[in-house]
Amino acid sequence: MKTLNRNILHSLIDIQSPSNFETDMRNHIKSIIPTHKQLSIISDRNTSLAFHLDTGNKKTILIDAHMDEISGQIISILDSGFMSIQMTGPLIEYMHGRPVSIFSSILDKKIKGTILIQHAHTKDVREKNKDEYNKELLYVDIGTTTKKQTQSKVEIGDPVILDYGYNYLNKDVIVSRALDNKLGVSILIHVLLYSLSHSKDLQYNVIFNFTGDEETGKSSVSHFKNIDINSIIVIDTDWSSDLPFINQDVYGTIDIGKGPVLTRSDEDDGLFKIFNTISKKHKIPIQISVPLAGGSMLTHYGQQYTLNTQFLGIGVRNLHSPVETANIKDCDLLLQLLIFFLTQQSNAKINTKLKLKPKSKSKTKSKTKSKTKTKTKTKTKTKSKTKTKTKTKSKTRKNKIKKRSKNKTKKTKK
Ligand SMILES: [Zn+2]
Repeated sequence: MKTLNRNILHSLIDIQSPSNFETDMRNHIKSIIPTHKQLSIISDRNTSLAFHLDTGNKKTILIDAHMDEISGQIISILDSGFMSIQMTGPLIEYMHGRPVSIFSSILDKKIKGTILIQHAHTKDVREKNKDEYNKELLYVDIGTTTKKQTQSKVEIGDPVILDYGYNYLNKDVIVSRALDNKLGVSILIHVLLYSLSHSKDLQYNVIFNFTGDEETGKSSVSHFKNIDINSIIVIDTDWSSDLPFINQDVYGTIDIGKGPVLTRSDEDDGLFKIFNTISKKHKIPIQISVPLAGGSMLTHYGQQYTLNTQFLGIGVRNLHSPVETANIKDCDLLLQLLIFFLTQQSNAKINTKLKLKPKSKSKTKSKTKSKTKTKTKTKTKTKSKTKTKTKTKSKTRKNKIKKRSKNKTKKTKK
């Protein structure tokens, strides 16, 4: 099974990408993606980086992962030198006392800060005096003592980000800030890299869209309006319910480490059955959920396009906090699910393949692809009519390879 190169994920986490300030991330993603004659960049502006892979197919699919992360901005600089900030995404009451990084537009570098917190000691006495601390307001200390000093370092509007890196709780369970949506970006990068080296196996032209500004709800998707897109898939994180204080009987079950999440919301349309079939056929566990809260890029696409859509998620604990927690195995499974999706034709054809009779006994499927090209199409077609449903998985896989190889031959003729 194709698995995630975790170094790519770690490198994405190392880059802070507040909403509307995604330039460093765009440059980093571009540095990972090699040039390829079928691949072009069709959008490269602050809040969007989109690649188009032209495989010569009739259908085009767009896969999206947002590259920004929850962040804030400086609202006001006080006489005391402290700043008030606003944040988009997290529960503000949990952000007190956290370390932050500020993208200083004056110094053109990141500077360190700390969000102030009320002393534990003063809580009771202040409550008694009806002088309660307002948990909804956040103030940042950058070590300055006057307004002038602070103004020499930062500007109103400079972005603020929680200053946390990543750790592992065990081999596969990662804790980090911004797993939402560095996990999705990482998966999309891997799908892109795979697609470049297997472009002849793909059943679609693919647009890989790394969106920005998602966490503020301001993403634009209008720059694809001149492209005839058939399907849109959004990869993002989703809140898990495997927590001691959430009743899964009420809110549904999403556990980390039990497979990618497929939602069945009013925004998902037309692709669920295909993914579900692939999941069953290849024994890739998935978790099906009806989202009760939260939105995704699908909302933006839904306002612009009427086509097939599907949200694919990675379950995350402590979502929109600096200690988001996920299981990387879910990412590996989602990557594999997408690879199967892109390299297989339609639900109908997948079912047909299940009935095909194997011809070759070879087990080294990927290596023998080119050799199996010689199988004729008529041969497999006749067989499909006579087959029973008792074929083993390994056998049907071999057939898939054969079919793919044929498609390969067909396409190269174009
Ligand atoms: Zn997200």
